Amino acid sequence: MGRIVNSNIEKGKVAKKTASRVRHIPQRTCVGCRQVIEKKALIRLVRTDEGIIIDRGGRLSGRGAYLHEHKDCWEKGLKGSLAKALKIELTENDRKLLRAYMANLPDEPEKPIVIGNEADV
Ligand SMILES: [Zn+2]
Repeated sequence: MGRIVNSNIEKGKVAKKTASRVRHIPQRTCVGCRQVIEKKALIRLVRTDEGIIIDRGGRLSGRGAYLHEHKDCWEKGLKGSLAKALKIELTENDRKLLRAYMANLPDEPEKPIVIGNEADV
């Protein structure tokens, strides 16, 4: 009884090294206007057990959604796209928080959002 063990498994060349050094800039979609833009230029909103938190540092974990820093997008977001993106229903508290924040935002961007180095104002 001779069992022939054929261990001649051909190894495909897996060691494919991509030497590309492309720096990936994280991009996100504003849930208000659907524009895809550099993450840094957007405000992150995070869903937590206590409701929505405005995550200025962008470091909180949890499901997040992004909005431009102007009222237009927040209004659109409040109409439903934000809740959809976060997969929740906005509570009265959430709306209050978001409206309060929105009140301090400009109606529309006064100048195009500069990507890259921020000049001192
Ligand atoms: Zn927007």
